[in-house]
Amino acid sequence: MKLDELHDFGLTENQKMVRAMARDFAEKEILPKVEAYEREGRYPRDILEKMASLGMLGPTVPEKYGGAGLDYVSYGLICEEIARACWICASVISVQNSLVNSGIVKFGTEEQKQKYLVPLARGEKLASACLTEPGGGSDLASLESTITPDGDDYILNGSKVFISHAQHSSVYFVLASIDRTRKHKGICALLVENPSPGITATPLKLRTLKRGNICEVHFDNVRVPRSNLLGEEGGGFRVVGSNLDIGRFSVAARCVGQAQACVDACLKYANERVQFGQTIGHFQMVQRILADMIVSVEAARLMVYRVGQLKDAGLGRASLEASMAKLMASDVCVKACVDAIQVHGGYGFSEDLPVGRFLMEAKVLQIGEGTNELQRALIAEYALGIRSY
Ligand SMILES: Cc1cc2nc3c(=O)[nH]c(=O)nc-3n(C[C@H](O)[C@H](O)[C@H](O)COP(=O)(O)OP(=O)(O)OC[C@H]3O[C@@H](n4cnc5c(N)ncnc54)[C@H](O)[C@@H]3O)c2cc1C
Repeated sequence: MKLDELHDFGLTENQKMVRAMARDFAEKEILPKVEAYEREGRYPRDILEKMASLGMLGPTVPEKYGGAGLDYVSYGLICEEIARACWICASVISVQNSLVNSGIVKFGTEEQKQKYLVPLARGEKLASACLTEPGGGSDLASLESTITPDGDDYILNGSKVFISHAQHSSVYFVLASIDRTRKHKGICALLVENPSPGITATPLKLRTLKRGNICEVHFDNVRVPRSNLLGEEGGGFRVVGSNLDIGRFSVAARCVGQAQACVDACLKYANERVQFGQTIGHFQMVQRILADMIVSVEAARLMVYRVGQLKDAGLGRASLEASMAKLMASDVCVKACVDAIQVHGGYGFSEDLPVGRFLMEAKVLQIGEGTNELQRALIAEYALGIRSY
């Protein structure tokens, strides 16, 4: 039996086809380019255009709004397979589909759906999620960006930080407060067009993901039509909260994909690298690393698929299950990246091999979409009865 055959439990024929399509695309269209793009700091716009033509930027959006109309398990499989090849491309899928598209599907007016959802789902436009601020990302209720009503518009002011893809996105999903004294009840979700007068997006100098266009974004008296409010005034937390499980599910699926890339790289290397007259895969201590890595990746995969299956079965919110999957999969992913460097020895740091790069990329997944400290707090609070759905 091959390892890949393990993955087929419970998947429908259609889900297997989606996985095969995403894997084939990742191997043929992404993997041959990803290291060169990394070295050049080049945003993978051309790859994203091809992904869009295959429906990968709007997987769960209904077909009548330009999406692929797929189930959640299929969405997870796409995230996993694309992340196996490229963190950035997978990040675009998950930002665009989980928070922005899903938010518009659930809370958008018909006009917003036609104007924004259709081109986003078709991948004709890219979206950024502008939540995190310089003052903090975990405590969203204390965000400082504001909107002030002015006739048919709002005037948006504030600053956001770590905003992925911001110079390439033409739709920003922005959280800002209409009344800061009301804390989370004052927060609104808005669709803001980029470029608009008063918006500046400047790439941050990060140690990793230099091709991800992760930016600081300033809003200086930006005029946003009131018709671009998503949901109700003060309902921004509801919009974000209703899709948190999908966002965490997609990040968890990406973690499984990147951890699987570590397994792939290690199996290849352990069968090639010779020390003491035999390939290093013959050494039991290397075998132990490989076996533990394979089992933990498979366990994480099971937790991720379970979230997709629960959503497909109609569970409205899978918050606890999604937090558990995100926590476990991101921890497994970081450990797999550390172990992959160990298996590669000094060559784990070589620019010619991807495993050294994986580690910094994977670490981000323990921080984004709710840090793992917040996931642990949530899980414990649900278990203790301090928090409930
Ligand atoms: C590469 C990258 C891409 C990103 N892309 C986006 C994006 O597209 N859009 C966006 O809006 N944001 C994005 N982010 C931001 C990310 O979501 C935030 O970094 C994250 O939410 C944490 O916020 P913070 O960095 O302000 O850390 P802080 O909130 O300041 O947290 C610092 C530390 O304190 C801990 N902590 C905070 N509160 C608690 C608590 N109550 N209990 C226990 N521990 C706590 C945290 O877990 C963390 O360890 C991105 C970040 C990175 C690195």
